[in-house]
Amino acid sequence: MKTLLPTSTAGSLPKPAWLAKPETLWSPWKLQDEELAEGKRDALRVSLHDQQRAGIDIVSDGEQTRQHFVTTFIEHLSGVDFEQREIVKIRDRYDASVPSVVGPVAREKPVFVEDAKFLRQQTDQPIKWALPGPMTMVDTLYDGHYKSREKLAWEFAKILNQEARDLAAAGVDIIQFDEPAFNVFFDEVNDWGIAALEKAIEGVECETGVHICYGYGIKANTDWKKTLGSEWRQYEEIFPKLQASNIDIVSLECQNSHVPMELIELIRGKKVMVGAIDVATNTIETPEEVAATLRKALQFVDADKLYPCTNCGMTPLSRQVAQGKLKALSAGAAIVRQELAR
Ligand SMILES: [Zn+2]
Repeated sequence: MKTLLPTSTAGSLPKPAWLAKPETLWSPWKLQDEELAEGKRDALRVSLHDQQRAGIDIVSDGEQTRQHFVTTFIEHLSGVDFEQREIVKIRDRYDASVPSVVGPVAREKPVFVEDAKFLRQQTDQPIKWALPGPMTMVDTLYDGHYKSREKLAWEFAKILNQEARDLAAAGVDIIQFDEPAFNVFFDEVNDWGIAALEKAIEGVECETGVHICYGYGIKANTDWKKTLGSEWRQYEEIFPKLQASNIDIVSLECQNSHVPMELIELIRGKKVMVGAIDVATNTIETPEEVAATLRKALQFVDADKLYPCTNCGMTPLSRQVAQGKLKALSAGAAIVRQELAR
């Protein structure tokens, strides 16, 4: 990246009301068949345009073609039965009805590669593409086949690696793996989670990142956050191993969170996407608030490695609020960029 402090979003952005019900997770599509396919492409273009108008430097598809950041990817794999559902506790936090792994998992054909090519055709700006991470995929399913989280994660890592190589070949500049589960299962992260992530990025010819957050602003997450105390030191458990890994970029939640900023020192050397926008509130940050978070982060990240970002995806927010937040992110980054140029 030539731009200093290049801005981006963690992933999802709100969908237009004609495509899916707004401000809703797992919102059902309002169109069908060819109309749906065209509607998704149109929404992707609108989402890209909104990012560009807000001055975002590294753009994305806003996840306009997915209902959910994990399950939409899994829907395209064989070995998972979406009819056979089980209730499991996900992220060790809330019960959800999830599909079952019933046989060997495999990617029969590329999942998001056509979407990525479409985005690539629309812009010359750097593009980032999000995929679920292996551990988070495992944690969003019932496994009646492998009966081992580690084994299933390893199979998913191989599938993700195929997809990531294809996405890089399609012209994606950064592939990000979403691993909110990294913030919960520390022992597993250190035993096999980071190893699975490294398997997923093996030989991938573009930059790679991992996004680790405290989740969307839904009730189960905000209730959980209340139990975490005044200092959130979860990142501390996994940063040393992450620092030693091959991953290029780490994307973190830093705005309005109780994560002590100095923990970032533990991943010194990595590029850090610093979440400077809170996705769990409708209050739009001021550019000055964004700048203040970035300045704090600059104590622990070299300026050429700091990437201003959002805490997490913004799909549950209204389009108006999300757009305001994107603009605040750009404006806040611009303030700090000017200070650095002095
Ligand atoms: Zn997130």
